[in-house]
Amino acid sequence: MTQTAVPTVATPFRFFEAEVARVTRLSPNFVRVTFTGADLDRFADNGFDQRIKLIPPLDDSGFAHLPEGLDWYTQWRCLPDEQRNPIRTYTVRAVRRELREVDVDMVLHGVSGPASRWAVNARPGSQARLMGPNADFAGTSGGIDFHPPAGTRRILLGGDETAVPAIASILSKLPADACGEAVLEVPEGADRLAITAPAGFRVTWLARDGAAHGTHLIPEVEAAAQRLLGDCTKPVGAVLEDVDVDNDILWEVPDGTETTIDGFYAWLAGEAAVIKSLRRHLVTGCGVDRRAVAFMGYWRLGKAEC
Ligand SMILES: Cc1cc2nc3c(=O)[nH]c(=O)nc-3n(C[C@H](O)[C@H](O)[C@H](O)COP(=O)(O)OP(=O)(O)OC[C@H]3O[C@@H](n4cnc5c(N)ncnc54)[C@H](O)[C@@H]3O)c2cc1C
Repeated sequence: MTQTAVPTVATPFRFFEAEVARVTRLSPNFVRVTFTGADLDRFADNGFDQRIKLIPPLDDSGFAHLPEGLDWYTQWRCLPDEQRNPIRTYTVRAVRRELREVDVDMVLHGVSGPASRWAVNARPGSQARLMGPNADFAGTSGGIDFHPPAGTRRILLGGDETAVPAIASILSKLPADACGEAVLEVPEGADRLAITAPAGFRVTWLARDGAAHGTHLIPEVEAAAQRLLGDCTKPVGAVLEDVDVDNDILWEVPDGTETTIDGFYAWLAGEAAVIKSLRRHLVTGCGVDRRAVAFMGYWRLGKAEC
């Protein structure tokens, strides 16, 4: 494996050349891809919902056209379609720097998307590039959106299968005395993964079993919010501007510098229309301060990430 040129300036994120060490089938719809690479000992282990970019090779040219250097993104955008590697967003599930390994749990949703297609076909030796946090960067790399404000006492985590890796990682990093609920909607019952959570957390897995996305997640997150908030019926919420989830990104993340008003904090991620509905319920219906809720439309049904 040739080594990717490392910029002389330590940037918060950088490219890592990676190949698949092993693929572990976790369930009918999840695989864990374990990457290895000569410089993955420099991949920062920041935990929580650390997001990264996964870049599969092009069928004809691999990574021959993938630009490097500080202005790689500008150059990448200018490439003709057939030379532009797809770039998709994933969550780091585990980093073992001493072994030069990184785990990414990927949903298999067919072969229509380049990342899922790559995952379906991934074998030991399959190549990819990761754009991940740089351990050599002196500051904060960024790419983490779980920021409970000071004074948080009750946490609500909710999401579909694409958010399971992030929720599992967040739960594993929370202090032992953390309290709250995690609600996870997955395609089928056998996709319930073995995860660890603080004793004070109620973890609810919901099997979609062919129903529409959010069918079970929306009412269960609403019920969990009611349990955690006590009274979820006060019509005191802020009026939200509408977000057109087909054209705009639903992404609103407090930076954790606020102090919670009532000790409640929510982190919700998944299909954009489902998350939009939950956002409206919490902020407008329940009167939750929007600065106490991270909403992330991870993907949009029928639309490729671009
Ligand atoms: C911050 C962040 C973290 C994420 N972490 C993870 C993670 O750890 N694991 C993970 O599996 N995903 C994760 N995702 C979601 C992932 O980026 C999307 O599912 C992405 O669209 C997959 O790319 P693709 O090339 O397979 O499909 P695309 O080319 O983007 O889309 C092709 C088609 O597939 C549909 N599609 C995309 N995703 C799904 C899905 N899950 N189920 C059904 N249809 C789908 C699209 O609507 C589109 O019609 C994350 C997203 C974000 C923003």
